[in-house]
Amino acid sequence: MTVIGIDVGGTTIKGAAVTSEGKMFKTFTVPVSKYEKGVEVMERLAQAVNDYIATYKDEIGTIEGIGMGIPGVIDSKKGVVCASANLPLWTDLKVKEIIEKLTGLPVKVSNDANAAALGEVRFGAGDNCETAIMLTLGTGVGCGVVLNGQLFEGNEGKGAELGHSTLILGGRKCGCGRKGCFEAYASASGLIYDTEQMIEKHPESKMKKIAIQFGKVNGRVAFKAAREYEDPWAIKVVDQYISYLGEGLLNICNIFRPNLIILSGGVANEGDYLIERVQEYIKERDYGYKNSPEVKVVQGKLGYDSGKIGAAALFF
Ligand SMILES: [Zn+2]
Repeated sequence: MTVIGIDVGGTTIKGAAVTSEGKMFKTFTVPVSKYEKGVEVMERLAQAVNDYIATYKDEIGTIEGIGMGIPGVIDSKKGVVCASANLPLWTDLKVKEIIEKLTGLPVKVSNDANAAALGEVRFGAGDNCETAIMLTLGTGVGCGVVLNGQLFEGNEGKGAELGHSTLILGGRKCGCGRKGCFEAYASASGLIYDTEQMIEKHPESKMKKIAIQFGKVNGRVAFKAAREYEDPWAIKVVDQYISYLGEGLLNICNIFRPNLIILSGGVANEGDYLIERVQEYIKERDYGYKNSPEVKVVQGKLGYDSGKIGAAALFF
């Protein structure tokens, strides 16, 4: 079976034909602007899909559907984008209905983080395991939950928001309006905030020089200063970040008892330096309970392709 998998981002939509064995063909892209109406984007996207199928039909064979991962609050049962922070003119957009009409193919829609999680679990780092949680450590903390091999869609198909579980009561203000959310500490934005605070207090830190080289404080500054220069202030920031992330993951372990936690997104690119320490943090604490089942923490493997492959996997 071959399906078109589409990953909608804030500036670009990417799509490709993907087989049920996880093989991905050539990618096509459609630019998108947050100032453009959703209906207009859908028309351009449908045209791009039709052109792609016509151009590559000998190579990709028969296409049996279109899977889409879209950022925001998605009613996956109805195939409707309820609201998207990145694409504000996509409110109440009937994606499934419009794309099905314009392409003649069945369409399935899910949240982009859910789709990426499904892609990683089926065809990437997840090794097709039964129960896995994927967290995307970017501007926020996105999550996708796969339980017993199935994507957890939640009430109204709106998935789970583990990033907005409370880590510190009365803590930092979060974008969602509450205080002390996991996301406010474990996202790249949380890490950047802590890095900035530390640089302000300790301008002698190597982090300041690295930030100037990068042109700004980003999520890599503290990790680079800690790893390459053993800067004591950077080590403090990284240690604190590991404990925020570790505590959040322990909560998740206690709720889901997953086989696997997959970390992706910007901060996860720190690789083993992050992954091994987080794994150790969880293991040492044993979920805070003796003889808890083992959980493995791994880095995502598919990178930006997880969105397209996972969107297609909504059909598999
Ligand atoms: Zn929140």
